[in-house]
Amino acid sequence: MSAPTESLITKKPEATEAGNYFVSNYPPFSFWKPDYVPKVAEILQQPRPDGVPLGVYFHIPFCRKRCHFCYFKVYTDKNAAEIRAYINAGLKEMETFARQPYIAGRKAHFVYFGGGTPSYLSVPQLQDLSSRMKDMVPWDEAEEVAFEAEPGTLSEKKLEGIREIGVTRLSLGVEHFDDHILESNGRAHRSGEVDKAYRFARSLGFEHINIDLIAGMMNETEEKWRYAVGRALELAPDALTIYQMEVPYNTGIYQQMKAEGKVTAPVADWPTKRAWVSYAFDEFTKAGYTVTSAYTAVKDPNRIKFVYRDSLWDGADLLSCGVASFGHLGGVHYQNQADVGPYMQAVDAGTPPIFRAYPTTKEERFVREFILKLKLGRVNAAHYRAKYGDDPLVKFAPQLAYIQSEGFGRVDGDVVELNREGLLQVDRLCHEFFLPQHKQYARYT
Ligand code: SF4
Repeated sequence: MSAPTESLITKKPEATEAGNYFVSNYPPFSFWKPDYVPKVAEILQQPRPDGVPLGVYFHIPFCRKRCHFCYFKVYTDKNAAEIRAYINAGLKEMETFARQPYIAGRKAHFVYFGGGTPSYLSVPQLQDLSSRMKDMVPWDEAEEVAFEAEPGTLSEKKLEGIREIGVTRLSLGVEHFDDHILESNGRAHRSGEVDKAYRFARSLGFEHINIDLIAGMMNETEEKWRYAVGRALELAPDALTIYQMEVPYNTGIYQQMKAEGKVTAPVADWPTKRAWVSYAFDEFTKAGYTVTSAYTAVKDPNRIKFVYRDSLWDGADLLSCGVASFGHLGGVHYQNQADVGPYMQAVDAGTPPIFRAYPTTKEERFVREFILKLKLGRVNAAHYRAKYGDDPLVKFAPQLAYIQSEGFGRVDGDVVELNREGLLQVDRLCHEFFLPQHKQYARYT
C-alpha cells in the first residue's frame, strides 16, 4: 500500500466515551421486562401465521479468548462435555418451541449460527447440532444458512465440515490485518490465519463470504487502516462489513478506563472512525463494489443478499435458542437468560429460559422498521403507508427536516435518502425517530 498523502480526517474531534452506539433493535432493550415473558407463551399457542417467514438462530457462547472490546457473555474455559451439555440444552429448548402450534410444521426461511464463536465447535459437534436442528425445523427451503467464524479456528477440515452442513454465508471476523493491532485488542487470531482460511473457504465454493473489519480499534493509525482496507480488497470478498468501534460498559476496555479514572476511551474519535469507514467504502466502490448499508459494501448486489438481516428488519419471526439469544415471535421480542447457569437450569426444569420480553404495538413496529431500514440509506414512505396505514413523511416531519437541515440527506417525493455523512452516523440519527417514551438523545426538540 502507498503511504497516505493527505489526512482523511476533516471534522473536529468528538470523543468516544463508554456506552452503546449501535442500534440493533427497537424498542430499546431497557424496556424489555421479565413481566412480559408470559406473552411469548401466548403467541406460541396461536395458530401458525400465513406469509411470515421463520428464521432459526442458534447461539454458541464459546471463544478461544475474550477480546478487550467484547461486550457479549462468552466462555473461554469450557471442556467438550460442557459444550455437549450446552448444545443438548439449546436443542431441548428448540424442541419445546418447535412443538407449539405457532411453530409446528413451519420450515426455516433462514438459519443463523451466531456467537461467541460458532466455528469453535468441532466438526462432529456441528454435524450433530445441525442434523438435530433440521429434524425439528427443516432447512431444505432455507434461502440462507449464515455462520460466524473466527479465522484462527478454521482448519481445512473445519471449513469442509461447515460447508457440508449447508452453510451458504460464511462471515469471517477478521477485524484487522495488522498483527500488533489484533494482539493488543485481545484477538485470538493473526493475519496469516485469515489468508489461509479465506483462500480455502473460497475453494470450497461458499456462495457468500463476508469479511468483518472494525474501524478504530486500539492502536489504530491512518496508515494501518489503509493497509487493512488494501488487504481486504486483495481478498475480494463477496461482502465487506465495517463496524465503528464502540466501548460498551461490559468490555475489558471500559474496566481499564474505570480503573484509571478515564472518561474518553483509548480509541479514535467518531469523526475519525467515520472518515476511515468512508475511505474503505471509497476504495471498495472504485473496485466495483456497491455500498448497500451503513456498514456494508457488496461485490454484486443482485446476487449477494443478507437474508437474515433483511428478514428481521421486515419483521420476520426468529426462533432463537441458546444463552442470551434474542428472538422475535408474532410481534413479541424476547431474550434468553444471559448466563449459562440459569439458562441450563431453566431448560433442565422444562421452563422457558427467557429472561425478558417486550410485546410491541403496531406503532412501535412501524418505527422499528423505519429506523432499521434507514440503515440501508434509502426508505420509501409508500411501503409504510401500505403496510402500516401511517405516513412516515408526516409522522417524522421534524426529524426529516432536521436531517435535511444538517446536510445528512434529503426527501425526494416518497423517498428518504441519507448521504454518506448521514449514513455513517445513522445509529445516532436513529435515536431521533424513537417515540417520546423511548427517547434519550433527541436533538430537534
Ligand atoms: S470473538 Fe467475538 S464473541 Fe468472542 S470474545 Fe471476541 S468479540 Fe467477543
